Amino acid sequence: MTTTTDTHCPYCSLQCGMRLRTGGDPAAAGAAEAPAEVLERPGFPVNRGALCSKGRSAPALLAPGARLTGPLLRDRPGGPLRSAGWAEALDRVAAGLAEVRERHGADAVGVFGGGGLTNEKAYQLGKFARVVLRTANIDYNGRFCMSSAAAAHRRAFGLDRGLPFPLADIPHTGCLILVGGNPAETMPPALRYFRELRENGGTLIVVDPRRTRTAAEADLHLQPRPGGDLALALGLLHLVIADGRVDEEFVAARTTGFDRARAAAMAHWPDRVERITGVPVSRLRAAAELFGRAETGMVLTARGPEQQSKGTDTVGAWIDLCLATGKAGRPYSGYGCLTGQGNGQGGREHGQKADQLPGYRSIEDPAARAHVAGVWGVDPAELPGAGRSAYELLDGLGRPGGARALLLTGSNPVVSAPNAAHVTARLRGLDLLVVADPVLSETARLADVVLPVTQWAEEDGTTTNLEGRVILRRRALDPPEGVRSELWVLRELAARLGVEKGFPDAAEEVFDELRRASAGGDADYSGISYRRIAAEDGVFWPCPDDAHPGTPRLFLDRFATPDGRARFAGVTHRPAGEEPDRDYPLHLTTGRVLAQYQSGAQTRRVPELNAAAPGPFVELHPRLAARLAVAEGDLVAVTSRRGRAVAPARITDAIRPDTVFMPFHWPGAGRANTLTNPALDPVSRMPEFKLCAVRVERAHET
Ligand code: SF4
Repeated sequence: MTTTTDTHCPYCSLQCGMRLRTGGDPAAAGAAEAPAEVLERPGFPVNRGALCSKGRSAPALLAPGARLTGPLLRDRPGGPLRSAGWAEALDRVAAGLAEVRERHGADAVGVFGGGGLTNEKAYQLGKFARVVLRTANIDYNGRFCMSSAAAAHRRAFGLDRGLPFPLADIPHTGCLILVGGNPAETMPPALRYFRELRENGGTLIVVDPRRTRTAAEADLHLQPRPGGDLALALGLLHLVIADGRVDEEFVAARTTGFDRARAAAMAHWPDRVERITGVPVSRLRAAAELFGRAETGMVLTARGPEQQSKGTDTVGAWIDLCLATGKAGRPYSGYGCLTGQGNGQGGREHGQKADQLPGYRSIEDPAARAHVAGVWGVDPAELPGAGRSAYELLDGLGRPGGARALLLTGSNPVVSAPNAAHVTARLRGLDLLVVADPVLSETARLADVVLPVTQWAEEDGTTTNLEGRVILRRRALDPPEGVRSELWVLRELAARLGVEKGFPDAAEEVFDELRRASAGGDADYSGISYRRIAAEDGVFWPCPDDAHPGTPRLFLDRFATPDGRARFAGVTHRPAGEEPDRDYPLHLTTGRVLAQYQSGAQTRRVPELNAAAPGPFVELHPRLAARLAVAEGDLVAVTSRRGRAVAPARITDAIRPDTVFMPFHWPGAGRANTLTNPALDPVSRMPEFKLCAVRVERAHET
């Protein structure tokens, strides 16, 4: 008998709705042994039935051959992983964590989570770290994703929600500037919003060092040097001010700090901005004219401007452009961030960040500590303070003062962390590495204990998409024998470490506690229930009580700052952490391709996706290729101060001649993150993934 279940895609932050048919003929599912088939779910408003190749092929992840089906243990350092039962594996983990804590203190145990975990798992992981392990050192890979946008959002508006408006508003704005994002490859069903905007007479401007598939659809493409986005925003603000297009009434009534922003922008003359960015003044003027004269407008950023050592200020400069022109806090106007990971939004709201508690509250705020401690039934004084950010946590592993044991779930830093060879060495130096993952990822291969956990279609759980819409993934089928949910794992470990209560393994029960913990916080989920989500195609937070309709649009009346006014950043241009020089004369920028997702731990196991994107490559401009005597398909070596990666050349005039591009989905010789720079943004602690200095030469072997 077949059953259909309405649920959502396991991958990106769009969280497309889909219908899964289970119990039918596996061959019909389109992938060998896949136990489910994807059907359209046209009624879900975000994607209206459309899915990209990743979503369509997602059932292949559920096939037994693609994943782990029982725990693995290593009996001695350097020895092989062997099969084990759950009791033995959990006993080993609990004993190992307790021993490290006993010898080196609570902060010597680290926890590393992920932006793909459900809200329930993110919440329970944060609670486990603080209540059971008593460690301050918990952070997650979302720090590597949108933390700069989150920090800039909070600084300007007092609250961070990726998009303060629904995607459905995009087609109704007059002019949209998309900075450093490529939804045509990262979230293709979202492209229709940008196409509808143009069909409605609006203008799309794309800022990207590459002429991506998205840039190819734009009315205007600005192609700055990597790291030039901050200066570009200031140049546009300069022209908007010079052209008299500041919305003085809005600035006076709803903002503070414009004088400083104006002074910063006026120091960035168009010809100076052209020198910094490489964008001709004529194109800068065209963009300023289009955005400045539009009645309504939006700026959306993605990883390009955010993954920089000045990411918070770069996003702040783009927000300043919105504020000066009155394009924020009004219908069909505003700044937003295209979050990357599936639960990149919810993952940052419920306490798996080093500096935050559930409800998106500061861990240093006495009132927040008292409230959350009350829900958890502990003394607020017992809650640890802020811990190390993601890269600082990884960088400190095994060093004096750093963590000596790590519990890691929902992440694969061997491929996805910056300066990845260094991070891999740090992971190898741990006393105990425990990895919970559905698959034997590159990081799991290093672990002392590997715990196989359930996936999207095998468990209930909520995520929060890039719009702040809380949605519900429903369990559509049973996991294989030998696989358990992370919630069950945390319950079992808590009990072994002496905490018998407070860690249920039923997702809805955890969600109901999360609602209470979030009450009164920025991300208030109090009025959101599984029943409401299912009935309403998701509910937007904040939603403070059962009768509240949710909040699709923020800031229309006031911003979430103490005085209700948005705050200008007033920042100035500064160089990247690493600029090209004689030894490393080119920029490297990294990114994603359509058929792979993040570290590739899932998508590299899906035959259809692997066939479409089988391995890394290096994109070079024809002029650079000619200078290096490199032909299409030749192996090229890319070397930075941190290491060397080798991959075939792909020659295209879609990239700037001073820049090369590598996708980051693969391990081994072509691992792009061997090269990337871990220089951190001082506010968000975001590493500078998006640019570093490299040299490139022909290679004859990897
Ligand atoms: Fe899944 Fe994102 Fe593709 Fe939608 S766009 S099907 S959520 S990967």
